[in-house]
Amino acid sequence: MKTATRTKFVIGNWKMNPTTVADATRLVLGIGKKFPRPKSTVMVAPSYLHLGEVKRVLKKPYRMCAQDVFPAEGGPHTGCVSARMLFAQGVTSSIVGHSERRAQGETNDMVGEKTRALVALGMMPIICVGETDRDHHGKYYSYVEAEVRAALLGVTKKQLANIVIAYEPVWAISTGDGKGQTATAEHAHEMKLFIQKVLVELYGRPAALAVPIIYGGSVNGENADDLMKNGAIDGFLVGGASLTVDTFISIIKTVEAYL
Ligand code: PEP
Repeated sequence: MKTATRTKFVIGNWKMNPTTVADATRLVLGIGKKFPRPKSTVMVAPSYLHLGEVKRVLKKPYRMCAQDVFPAEGGPHTGCVSARMLFAQGVTSSIVGHSERRAQGETNDMVGEKTRALVALGMMPIICVGETDRDHHGKYYSYVEAEVRAALLGVTKKQLANIVIAYEPVWAISTGDGKGQTATAEHAHEMKLFIQKVLVELYGRPAALAVPIIYGGSVNGENADDLMKNGAIDGFLVGGASLTVDTFISIIKTVEAYL
């Protein structure tokens, strides 16, 4: 299936790194200084604690992304951050459904609630989906389909235009050092086509094919080109490798070769 997507995405998920706000700002300043004008859509997702300061020093066209969001508008939700709070800080995107959140109890329904909270404000959800492991009978396809359908429940065709889906097979996500098992470009490509098929069923062909589908899971400077070329994906969600200035920039450059 051909994609109608124009732009490509590179999103650095810093997870619970680095420890200090000084290191977080150093990282984003280093990326911006060495590569000031990315042509793709590049976002960094620092911890909530560092978000304000990273945003203050971040230079456009780099963009901020949150690592998670809580679906309620406000109220007694200890430790949570709402979409409105992010929006008020000028953060207009958030990852939802990351496998590390799902491992802590986040359900498909909760991912749907988070997605709806974001799109209601015109914010961009980066929806993570992906099987925990692969069986020989292809059951992992229905697992991913259920994730996609639940995440998009109640999302209109118009809102779909501001959504990114990140295929992240859980078995290929490293502990953050970018050295874990990587899915092959074929794995990424076949799942991209499958997700597109589900989207076509839900929204029709033109709207479905415009949704960027990116890949995440141990992406690094060495495997990025093969994944782009043979996976035909629309960019990357990068964990461990986004914490090193030169590696992150080399991934951005690789993606931009396919613009
Ligand atoms: C992630 O957790 O979103 C991720 C892609 O991590 P890594 O690149 O470290 O596998």
